[in-house]
Amino acid sequence: MTNDAHARLRDEWRLAAPLIDGFTPEVTETLVVTNPATGAQVGRVALADVRHADEAVAAAVRAFPGWRDIPTTERGAMVLAAVDAVEAIADELAALISLEVGKVLHEAQGDVRGSLAMVRGMVQLVAELEAGEDRTGLPGTGQASFVRLRHVPVGAVAVIGPWNTPIFLTFNAIAPALAAGATLVVKPAVEAPLALTAMLRAMAEHLPDGVINVVPGRGSVVGQHLAEHPDVRAVSFTGSTGTGRRIAAAAAANIKKVALELGGNDPAVVLESAEITDSLIAELVAGCFAMTGQICFNIKRIYVHRSRHDELVEKLSAAVSRIVVGDAFDPDAHIGPLATRDGYDNALRLLDEARAAGAVVRELGIRADSADWTAGNYIAPTVVTGIAADHELVLDEQFAPIIPIVPFDTDEEAIVEANRTEFGLASSIWSQDLRHAEAVARRIEAGNTFINAHRLGASVPLVPFGGVKQSGLGRTHLLYSLEHVTDEHGIVGFSHPAAQLPGITRWQTVLADHPAKENV
Ligand code: NAD
Repeated sequence: MTNDAHARLRDEWRLAAPLIDGFTPEVTETLVVTNPATGAQVGRVALADVRHADEAVAAAVRAFPGWRDIPTTERGAMVLAAVDAVEAIADELAALISLEVGKVLHEAQGDVRGSLAMVRGMVQLVAELEAGEDRTGLPGTGQASFVRLRHVPVGAVAVIGPWNTPIFLTFNAIAPALAAGATLVVKPAVEAPLALTAMLRAMAEHLPDGVINVVPGRGSVVGQHLAEHPDVRAVSFTGSTGTGRRIAAAAAANIKKVALELGGNDPAVVLESAEITDSLIAELVAGCFAMTGQICFNIKRIYVHRSRHDELVEKLSAAVSRIVVGDAFDPDAHIGPLATRDGYDNALRLLDEARAAGAVVRELGIRADSADWTAGNYIAPTVVTGIAADHELVLDEQFAPIIPIVPFDTDEEAIVEANRTEFGLASSIWSQDLRHAEAVARRIEAGNTFINAHRLGASVPLVPFGGVKQSGLGRTHLLYSLEHVTDEHGIVGFSHPAAQLPGITRWQTVLADHPAKENV
């Protein structure tokens, strides 16, 4: 299946090749990028190696002072011109994401257009912050006659991205870095490098060489090397918790800033006071199954009060039965296949183990004609009940369109179960009684707890997004994203010689009583 944008894809976009200081270096090894809906080749990735990573960091370091020192409005105008250039090919980039990730077209369009909006917002925010914050005269500034606090770019920033939302999630760091005047070395995931690389190459044409460098390569080689590199001042990573641990350890060797957006196992807690309405079911279904269950903060487990369990399972199952599974370009499809074969094999294993443990596994949904079930990584949207609360499908991240439902008897029990894992990304409480919902929400260990929602739109920009416990370190959204790629720079001034800092009298005496000795 195709669409118009698919037909317009340029051949050069089908090779994700490194970009270093404006040049494309020779690369000896390539890997095939496959379409998870068919297993067919979509393109290739030219694998960068450690030498390329070193050259890319050197280019980013060289380009940094010049980029930083361009006046903010001028730099912002250059970044906006780069964004405008991408706007012109946004539909094509979305089609490329659909081909390499398998996600349905409107989700892929959100990935591209959301990233462009993020860059525009960051350019505006940085322009507003340009002057720095004047703290003169505020309590805590002592005798200082001039106090200013600025955000200054850190230098070269490494961004290591995942395959599930390859553009938007890397732009969480790319957008603030570009706007603030930091330079970039971006390592796309080898599973889905095409659209991100094409987009960054299109943007780089409008920026000085070395500001954006791209090194598609193996995570354990190029990603690890970037995390360890002494000239990289900040590393931003989105991916699994295991890799996040390795990156944090590597980055510790030379004290760089680390932002980790890691895995999640988000609980949704449906309280006794919840009324199981159609809109509640629609929100729950979106929260569980959007992007085929491969969003870091999809609902990954539902806890429901026992008195509501059967009604919820029945209504949710009826709704899930209407989800159409198909090819990314099928306009009727709600979800596509899983993006990777490993993820697909893992999902099938979890279902087999749940069945073997006596759980009730309902494979639901509608198989669209566009879905080649034998060649693609297709999994039916699945509702699992009668499963033990400590089963792996409940306590670990499935990253698939499978939702386990577990009953509880008291709020206390639900809170203990929700907090039982080492993950703490997002979470949700469901009830029309907002006081009851908030009382429970306050006791959930997570970066965000939504009430009566749990999907992309619920993560509003003014509230920081990120994880607690082993779901991450640092936050994204507006100023919070900017903090990772900038350092705070305080300028504290005293109107000489009036200032009398504690201890100055002693030094004045020293100077008066002891004329300088002649050097011998
Ligand atoms: P992954 O950890 O396997 O890979 C992510 C990136 O890290 C890839 O580019 C990979 O090449 C690279 N990498 C692998 N080993 C590395 C190493 N030793 N050093 C440096 N880089 C290395 O993750 P994934 O499977 O691509 O992504 C899925 C995971 O990401 C899920 O757990 C999901 O929950 C999580 N995720 C989290 C968020 C969030 O915002 N918290 C968002 C999206 C995805």
